[in-house]
Amino acid sequence: MSLNVEQTLRIIYKIGDKIEENKQYLTELDAAIGDGDHGINLSKGFRAAVEKLRNTQVKDIGETMKIVGMALVSNVGGASGPLYGTAFMKSGQAMIGKTEIDINDFYKMLYEALSGIKLRGKATVGEKTMVDAIEPALNELKNAIDEGFGAISALERAKNAALSGMHFTKEIAATKGRASYLGERSIGHQDAGATSSYIILDCIYEEVKN
Ligand code: ADP
Ligand code: MG
Ligand code: MG
Repeated sequence: MSLNVEQTLRIIYKIGDKIEENKQYLTELDAAIGDGDHGINLSKGFRAAVEKLRNTQVKDIGETMKIVGMALVSNVGGASGPLYGTAFMKSGQAMIGKTEIDINDFYKMLYEALSGIKLRGKATVGEKTMVDAIEPALNELKNAIDEGFGAISALERAKNAALSGMHFTKEIAATKGRASYLGERSIGHQDAGATSSYIILDCIYEEVKN
C-alpha cells in the first residue's frame, strides 16, 4: 500500500460521506445513553473539515490531517470534537512533510491518534468509549504487520477488531463520558463513539482496498 496526498484527501471526503450516511444512527445510539448529538456533532465537524480542505492547496499528508483535526476541535462542541480533533492532529504531526505513506506510516498515525485520545480523555479499554474500538484495531494492525500480512489484509483485520470492540461496548458499563452518569444502566447499549471509530476505520479499509 502506498497513499499519496490525493488519495488521502479522497479517503477524508469518503469519511465525511459515511458520517453523513450514519448521522441519524450515531445520534440515536447517543440518545439512548447520552445526549443524542454524536451524529450531529461529527457531521458538523467533518463538513467543516471537507470545506476547508476543498479550499486549501495542501502540501502533504501531515498538513491534511492537521486541517481535519483543527476543524473538528473548533466546530464540534461535544467531547468527541477535542478527542477526534487531537487524534487527527497528532497523527498529522507524525506525517509532516510526507507526500506518500505506507502501512507502517499508517500504523504510526493510528498509534499517535490513540495516544492523543487516551491522553486527553483519560479512558482505557473497557470504559465504553471510542478507545474500545481503536485500541484493538491498533493491536491487530501491529500483529498483522508483524505476521507479514499485506496492507489490505492487515487493515481488514484491524477494522474487524474495531467491529468486535464496538460490539463489546454493549456488554459493559460506561465509566467515562456522559453515559457514565447512567452507570450499570448503560449496559446493553452500544457506544456511539466506538461506532463512529469503527465506521472511520472501515471506510479507510474500503477505500484502500479499491
Ligand atoms: P458529548 O458526549 O459531549 O455529547 P459526543 O456525543 O459527540 O459528545 O461523543 C460521545 C462519545 O465520545 C462517546 O460515545 C464516547 O465514545 C466518547 N467519549 C466520551 N468521553 C470520552 C473519554 N473521556 N475518552 C474517550 N472517549 C470518550
Ligand atoms: Mg453526545
Ligand atoms: Mg453533547
